Parts: sequence; structure tokens; C-alpha cells
Amino acid sequence: MTKFVYALSEGDRDQKDLLGGKGANLAEMHNMGLPVPPSFTITTEACKEYLKQGSEPAEMAEQIDEHIARIESEIGKKLGDPDNPLLVSVRSGAKFSMPGMMETVLNIGLNDESVKGLAKVADNPRFAYDSYRRLLQMFGKTVLDIEGEKFEDVLDEAKDAKGTTNDLDLDAADFEKIAERFKAIIADETGKPFPQDPKEQLLEAVRAVFRSWNSERAVLYRRQERIPADLGTAVNVCTMVFGNLGETSGTGVAFTRDPASGSQGIYGDYLQNAQGEDVVAGIRNTVPLSDLEDIDKPAYDELMEIMSTLEKHYRDLCDIEFTVQDKKLWMLQTRVGKRTAGAAFTVACQLVDEGLISEEEALQRVNGDQLVQLMFPRFDESAEKELIGSGMNASPGAAVGELCFSSPKAAELAAEGRKVILARRETNPDDLVGMIAAQGILTSRGGKTSHAAVVARGMGKTCVCGAEELGIDVGAETMTLKDGTVMKAGDVVSINGTTGEVFKGEVPVVDPPVVKYFEGKLSEAEIADDELVRAVHRIMSVADRQRALKVRANADTGEDATRARLFGAEGIGLCRTEHMFLGDRRPLVEKLILAETEEEKHAALDGLAPMQKGDFVEIFEAMDGLPVTVRLLDPPLHEFLPSHIELAAQAAVLKERGTTMDADQKKIMAAVERMSEQNPMLGLRGVRLGLVIPGLFEMQAKAILEAAAERKKAGGDPRPEIMIPLVAAVQELEIMKEAIKEVAVAVSDETGVDLTDVPIGTMIELPRAVVTAKQIAESAEFFSFGTNDLTQTTWGFSRDDVEGAFFSRYIDKGIFGVSPFETLDIAGVGAMVEIAAKAGRETRPDMHLGVCGEHGGDPASVHFFHSLGLDYVSCSPFRVPVARLEAGRAAS
Ligand code: ADP
Ligand code: MG
Ligand code: MG
Repeated sequence: MTKFVYALSEGDRDQKDLLGGKGANLAEMHNMGLPVPPSFTITTEACKEYLKQGSEPAEMAEQIDEHIARIESEIGKKLGDPDNPLLVSVRSGAKFSMPGMMETVLNIGLNDESVKGLAKVADNPRFAYDSYRRLLQMFGKTVLDIEGEKFEDVLDEAKDAKGTTNDLDLDAADFEKIAERFKAIIADETGKPFPQDPKEQLLEAVRAVFRSWNSERAVLYRRQERIPADLGTAVNVCTMVFGNLGETSGTGVAFTRDPASGSQGIYGDYLQNAQGEDVVAGIRNTVPLSDLEDIDKPAYDELMEIMSTLEKHYRDLCDIEFTVQDKKLWMLQTRVGKRTAGAAFTVACQLVDEGLISEEEALQRVNGDQLVQLMFPRFDESAEKELIGSGMNASPGAAVGELCFSSPKAAELAAEGRKVILARRETNPDDLVGMIAAQGILTSRGGKTSHAAVVARGMGKTCVCGAEELGIDVGAETMTLKDGTVMKAGDVVSINGTTGEVFKGEVPVVDPPVVKYFEGKLSEAEIADDELVRAVHRIMSVADRQRALKVRANADTGEDATRARLFGAEGIGLCRTEHMFLGDRRPLVEKLILAETEEEKHAALDGLAPMQKGDFVEIFEAMDGLPVTVRLLDPPLHEFLPSHIELAAQAAVLKERGTTMDADQKKIMAAVERMSEQNPMLGLRGVRLGLVIPGLFEMQAKAILEAAAERKKAGGDPRPEIMIPLVAAVQELEIMKEAIKEVAVAVSDETGVDLTDVPIGTMIELPRAVVTAKQIAESAEFFSFGTNDLTQTTWGFSRDDVEGAFFSRYIDKGIFGVSPFETLDIAGVGAMVEIAAKAGRETRPDMHLGVCGEHGGDPASVHFFHSLGLDYVSCSPFRVPVARLEAGRAAS
């Protein structure tokens, strides 16, 4: 018989696959001897079966009964007992924490009879009816799918009737009435009364948790966070402990360190006489956790002790949920806590210093996405700003955008390319779409552990929450400032998630210290002074020490090359030459394209050559001593001519005026027509250009080699590599290589600098090149995987055409989890890279292999390239630190 239910003593923190994160950590805490209410966990396997078959496995209910019986005898209460009922919560817990994504139902086991018993044993009817109405509300909303507002409205009415906004002013009679009305709503909405049988309540709740795995919000969150869709969720059934028993009770959340900055201290929120979500839902204002010391010193001391135990045990920052029931502390949850990108770096280094982890482990505690966040611009301190309010610095960053008060609207505007700040009183899980779409999130309610704050930090999105002086009215779509000014949807605000400040209008942004550090603009003293920069510096050195992959940059100008080098680039993996043909050189290119005679063609090439050479001199100088791979001209030539539409419009205007195009214009028009292609991506480009326009690649090679000779003579150490794009057959490469070798001999003779050894290689970006890589390697002295084109040609779709057209559908349908242009499609395009890499090295065992597509700076892709044993990745200068970090992580 399959075991679908586990007692706490049967689990531990490593069993997240089976027991979910919450279940595994509850078991761990139980086994550490911490006070966890008696509980058991239903496995993800049961969930998967339920989702597959539409019903739970037959053994499940029976196994649940056994565990309930065990708890009943342990604590001496019975489920459904009208005099002294056992109550439980049914909680979801997937392998990866999905804050607020799944549903929890508290107080299961209450019904019309047992609520009276509970009132009597607790000697607290208010508490009993408050608990009952919570059950009805949560059960109605999450199990029976009734709109939450229906219940909220009843609560609001009851408070209005008493002239209050505080739920503490409602008494037992109020809650009893509210419970009656909730039952009526349930009967109305579902046509059936609320189930009085606790076992039925329990099973229905378990099923609802299973189903919530596939709720829209959960699916969206998983996609955003790249969590696999087939893991399923576990379900935790926990004996209820009550924070809503009165002043001596309460509930709270806490972090063992500040999740925003990493600093040590007491971080958390506490709410007296409250239950469950109250503390994060922002319904009443919480007090800082440090206040608990005055409220209940013994409970506070015990909590501090437990937090320190947990941190040592998990060797990491933890977050926790706890409840004090009548002065007794209970632990309800812990996990390695989400944190901001900055805190990830600083906490990792603190833990090294505290002797809890090694430097190599510290490297694994951070990732490239976090580093990217630290490199985002922030507000210019010296700029003039109009401060209109401030709240909690819930998730750092600087965000500017137009105010938008609804999540669907925010998604809509973002899809149009507009930048929005999502402004809400508080957020709830339904706001996820808007939060993803927005530049930043602004709320007027809630603390650092509110939904908005937790989710924003998880997403790395700027968030200011609890900015109370900003009167956010979602219904009216207005935000009223203290001075009475009313801001409307569309008005621009700037929010600073690092300080919690909110400004009117657009505040200019500047580079953060981490970027200045990478650019070499900080002195050693400045680095030592800034904990974050120091941590980044330290972890980057660990990464550089560990990694096997070299990291180069894609750079086309001396300026870019200089920046890339500062960022740690060990050469240029892709220097595109096309931009060198634009601007004021365009007429020369036009001449080349339009040349009718050999002389004209040579004249045009001769005109271009010196300019090209100048470009290369600058780049070689910036990358002195490091390899620079120059790609010969790749795009179709008509990209250098005016567009057909443009010309046709010109012609029409001229005709209107009674004239026609002159001879030159007509020539251009004719050329444009002649060269127009149905599929330029698959047309006359890359090596084909070199073959069709004799002299073109030779001119480029000459410019490269002469530049190298000039640098050599000036005492430099230029290391050019010449790369031929879009090769499909070894013959193409052989012809071009021969021509370039001739040029090399000639330039060497002319300059007296031996350049005959300059490597000549090719890009691998066509399927035919992959399957014939063994042959191609006979001619190619290196391979560079152009994974952008290789992705296009492997899938047979063009990036420019598909991203808007059908990608989102493909992602919805799970055909790929994320665009293959962002993260390498390892199964398909990755297999291509692997095949060609192996084949290339069969022919040439010491063959140099690199990647120059955008994937070179993508964390997941970098790990894959490392696993293939490639020599380097090349990415945009700004991503170089990310690639270094991830290459280090991949290697350790
Ligand atoms: P989430 O995954 O959204 O955090 P939880 O399952 O942790 O959901 O539960 C929601 C809230 O209910 C939390 O504040 C939690 O502490 C509280 N809660 C859950 N189970 C119990 C219980 N047995 N007794 C008291 N409070 C509980
Ligand atoms: Mg929780
Ligand atoms: Mg290409």
C-alpha cells in the first residue's frame, strides 16, 4: 500500500519533493524539539494522482483517519466533538514556496454544535464565533470558489453598523450573526448547506488545495519563477493553535535577519488577538516584533532563542510564522527566507565570517539574476525631487512610471510598452499579473511582511508598502496627497524601494555602487566601506577562482571594449563589423553595392578599408593582450540601403510635383528592387556575401590585419581572430579562408609583422554546419556558437516575427517554459551545440570553442555550456559579471 500520509516524525527537511517545503520544514522543526502543533502531511504523490484521475487515491482517506486518531489521543480532543472539538488547519505546501499562491483553511472541525462547545471550554464565545466565521469564510472562498468580496462585505457592514473599522470592536453576538450570514451565502451560492461533518470539511479542503495547484495564479507564478508545472503540492494538516484568544495571544511573522539589507537584528511584525493571515493582510496595524518583549517577555525570549537555533541549524537566513496561544509559543512555519538581491550577497558573506558556511557555499547562495538587480540604476541623489510620502522600504530599486490602480489595467498598459507603478491599498494574490507587469509596486497598507512586500522581493521588483499618508483610492483611481492634491491614473511617480520614499514626477536615475565598482571607479577604501560592494567583490573573486569557462564580451567599439574589460571580460567573443558600415560611411557602402565595374567596386572598397582599420586599432588597443574575434560582414546588404517603402514614397512625392527621380536615385531604387528578399534571414548574407562580392571579406581581413600590424609596431599585443559567419559547408569556408590567408601573407610581407598565424574560424549557426562539424573543423581553427541564429534555424522561426505572434501561446501551452531566445533550449539547440562541439574536437582535439549568442549571459545557459566543456562564453559587456558569477557557480 502506498504511503500517502506522513507524521512529522517521519519527515525531514530534505523531503521537499514528497512533503513540500512547509511539510519538510515542519518535520525538521518537530525533530529539533521545537514546539510545533501535532500535524501530518499528505504527499505530493497524492496530489499528482488526484490531478491525474480527478479523485484522490483510495487509501488516502483511511490514512488520514489514522493520523487524526493519533492526534486525537495525543491531545485528548476529538474532531467534531460537540463539547471539546479538535480543530485543524489544512495548508498547502509545494516544494518551492509560492507565497499566497495556494489556499489555506483554518479552524476545520467547527460546526453549529462544536462552536458552542469551543465557546464553553475556552470560556470565550467571541473567540469561538470569530473562529467559526473564519472557517466559513475561508472554506467558502477557497474550497467552494465563492467570491471573497461577498464575505468581506458582510464584515464591513457589521463594522459600519457599530461605527468602527476595527474587527476588535465586534463581539460574540456580532460574529454569531456574521457566521449565520456566511452560511446563508454558502447555501445560496452553492445550493447546498455548509458541510457540518468535520471529516467532509477536511477532505473537501484537502481536495481544494490539490486543485489550487492548477489555479490561474499558481500557474502564472510558476511560469514567472520557472517552477516546473508537474511537481504538485503537499497538504499539511496541523492542529489549530489560537492567536485570537484575547490579549495574551497573538500571531506574527519574523526573519532571523533583515531580508532587505541582511543586517542582523529583530525583524518581524506581531499582532495581538489575531489569527493566521491577519498579520500579513494589513487589516489592522501590526506592531514591530521588538514590542513583543514588553507584551510577553517569556514568549519573546523563547522566540529569540528558537530563531538563533534555526539560523544555526539551517545555516542561513530563515523566516518564520508563529502564534502565541495564551502565552504559549507555537512554531507554525519556517523556511530559508526570501531576501533581496543585496541581502543575498551580504548575508552569504556574514555567514562565512560567522564560520557557518564556506566561501564556496557562499557562492552558491547568490545568483546571476540577483547580481543583475544590483546593477540596475537608482535615483540620482542630487536631483531635485518632490517627496510626497514614504512607506516601508519593502523591496529595493528605483522605479518610475504612471500610476495605475488596477492589475489587469497595469498588464494592459505594460503590453503597450508603457511603464506603470501599480498603486493599491494592499495587494492580494489576484494582483500577481499587475505586479509582474509593473515597474514597481506602491501600497498604502501593510508592512515588510505583507503580501506586496514578500512577492515583490521574490520577483526582484521595487516595492514601497504601507505609505499611509498616500490616500490610495482604487475605486476612484486616485491618490490623494497630504496637502489635498489629487493624483490620477496616468500621473507619473517615482518610488524608491531602498528608502521607502515616493516622489512626484520622474526622478532621474544613476548607476549604483556595484556598477561603479565593476567600472573600477571605487577606491579600495570605498569598497571596504560599503558592505554590499565588499560582499560582491568577495564573491566575484570566489567565482573567478572557481570557474573553468572564460568570459568574453560582445563589443563593436573601442569604448564598449574598454567597459567590457573593466567588467572582467577576457577578450571579445564577437566584434560585429556591420555598424562600421553605417553613419557617414553609408554612401561608400552604397557605392560598393551599386558598383557596376570592377574599378568602381575597388574604389569603394579602398574607401572603406582605412576606416575599418581605424576601428580595429581602437578595439585591439582596448583589448591589448586579449583575443578579439572579429566577425566579417553578416547582414544582407540591402540593410544598408534605404527601404523600398521609403523610396516608393519619395517617388510618389516627386511625381506629385511633376518630376521624377534622378539617375542615381533610380539606380538605388533598381538595386533595392533587385536585392529585395522574401526571407532575408535565409538570404544573401554571411559567408554568401563574401563569396558573391569578391574583395569584400578580403578588404575586411586586410583592415583587421593591418590594424594588428600597426598595434604590434606600436608595442602592443593585438590578438585578432577572424570569424566567418553563416557557414553551412566546409567548401564555403575553405574558399574564404584561402583568400584571407593570401591577404595575411601579403600584409605580413608589406608590414614586416608576421600575421600568418591569425586564427580563422567559423560560426556554427546552421543545422548543416552542426551535422558536418567534423568536416568543417578541418578548415575552421575555432568554432563560435551563434546561438541566436542557431535557435532560429533549428526551430525554423525568425525571432523578429514570432515573439509577438505566437510565443505567449507556446509558453501558455508549456511547449517551452521560457523563450528559447532567453534561455537556451537545451534539449534541441543545446543538443546541436553538443554534437558540433564533440565533432569539432574529434577533428581538432585542442579546438577552441565559444558561444557568442545572447545566451552567453544567461545563467541557466551558462551552466549548460560549462557542462559541455566549452572554453568561453561571450555576452554583452553589462552581463559579463553575471556570466563570471554563473560560470563560477557552475564549476563548484
Ligand atoms: P501560506 O503558505 O500562505 O503562508 P499557511 O499555510 O502558512 O499559508 O497559513 C496561513 C496562515 O495561517 C499563516 O499565518 C499560518 O501561520 C496560519 N496557520 C496555519 N495553520 C495554523 C494552525 N494550525 N494554527 C494557527 N495558525 C495557523
Ligand atoms: Mg505561511
Ligand atoms: Mg548569426
